[in-house]
Order: sequence, then structure tokens, then C-alpha cells
Amino acid sequence: MARLTVITGPSGVGKGTLVRQLLARHPQIWLSVSATTRSPRPGEVDGESYFFLGREDFEQRVRAGGFLEWAEFAGNLYGTPRQAVEDHLAQGRPVLLEIELEGARQVRRTFPAAFQLFIKPPCFAELERRIRGRGTDSDAAIGQRLERARVELAAEEEFDAVLVNDDLGEACEQLERLMHLTSKKPPIGGASAAG
Ligand code: ADP
Ligand code: 5GP
Repeated sequence: MARLTVITGPSGVGKGTLVRQLLARHPQIWLSVSATTRSPRPGEVDGESYFFLGREDFEQRVRAGGFLEWAEFAGNLYGTPRQAVEDHLAQGRPVLLEIELEGARQVRRTFPAAFQLFIKPPCFAELERRIRGRGTDSDAAIGQRLERARVELAAEEEFDAVLVNDDLGEACEQLERLMHLTSKKPPIGGASAAG
């Protein structure tokens, strides 16, 4: 796989779900933990899901050049801490960033060799069902996220590859193929017959 992979796609499309499955099967991949000014959702752990920062602290780190990229999304700031990414790349670990469109564009300029993958839903109505079904965001936040989703979906052609997350098991397998990962483990989704 490419040394650096960027995964982007509208909120609620299933990026987190896909990435969790990928990491479970390929523990050599290192997933960057972003910083954000968003409040933690129930169950999110500081330093694992995100580094949760106050806005001033975040802005101070921006000024100090501490982020590889950063952007505002649905009223909150998000950024990739630079040092940890550089350290893992220097160690030869494959690095994965799960970030929104503006951040992906910044990384395209600074790491043109990175593999940039866009995840999209089978249709917009399904995206809305997923984001509502997840039950983690207020109505206002869902509205902002869906509005932003239209902008992100219009940018899919900028990416090296596009993956439709319809059936989760199939999407996981496609993700592995696109990242040139091979695995001897049984197919995701629990199917017992290899076919
Ligand atoms: P994102 O990280 O892109 O915001 P999540 O991974 O949180 O999205 O997924 C949003 C919701 O959609 C979750 O409730 C998740 O379980 C569900 N989901 C993810 N992938 C699929 C899929 N292929 N089919 C149906 N539901 C899915
Ligand atoms: P959420 O609030 O749902 O966790 O994330 C909202 C959006 O922010 C998602 O599209 C997610 O990919 C993106 N995001 C998460 N971390 C970063 C980051 O470090 N930089 C950028 N630019 N976007 C991020």
C-alpha cells in the first residue's frame, strides 16, 4: 500500500466503520488521531478517538505549525498533528488519515504521492438514514453535515479512487484491494464459504 493513505467522504457514510474493520485486519497500519474542538460524543475517549482541545489551544497549535493540515467542519476545527504522522512514516509504518475534503486538498499539495480515496453512499437518502440512525448528532449538526455532504460528494473526481459503501462486507474487501492489502483471514462479514 501507499505509505500515506487519505480517506475522505461525507459524514455518516461509514468511514469510521470501514477503518475500524481495516485496522482489525491490518494492525501494521497506523491511524492518525486528530485534534478537534468538537465536544466528545458518548463513549469517545480523549487521545483515542480524538485529542479534544479548546479553540484557543487548537489555534495556538495552528500558529506553531503543529498540524499537517486542518480545517473547519460543521462549526468545529479539526487537524492532523504533524509530528506523529512524520514519526510513523519515518519508521516505515503505513499511515492512514481519515479527514474531510479541505484537509485532503491540503495533503494533496504537501504529499502528492499519498493515495486519496473517497467513500460515497449508494444514494443521498441512505446517507441521511445512516447519520440519523447513528444517533450521535443534534438535528442542527445533522443539517450542517448533510449540507456539507453535497459539497464533498461533488468533489469525488478529485480523488484517486471512489468506493461505494453499500454492503459493508463488500466495501471492506474493496478497500483492501484498493489499498493493495492482502489478507489470509476469512472474508469480513462472517461468510464461511470462500467460494
Ligand atoms: P462516518 O465515520 O463516515 O461518519 P460511521 O462509520 O460513524 O460514519 O457510520 C455511520 C452509521 O452508518 C453508523 O451507524 C454505522 O453503523 C452505519 N454504517 C456504516 N457502514 C454501513 C453500511 N455499509 N451499511 C449500513 N450501515 C452502515
Ligand atoms: P466527526 O465530527 O464526525 O468525528 O468528524 C467530522 C468530519 O471531520 C469527518 O469528515 C472527518 O473525516 C473529519 N476529520 C476528522 N479529523 C480530521 C482532521 O484531522 N482534519 C480534517 N481536515 N478533517 C478531519
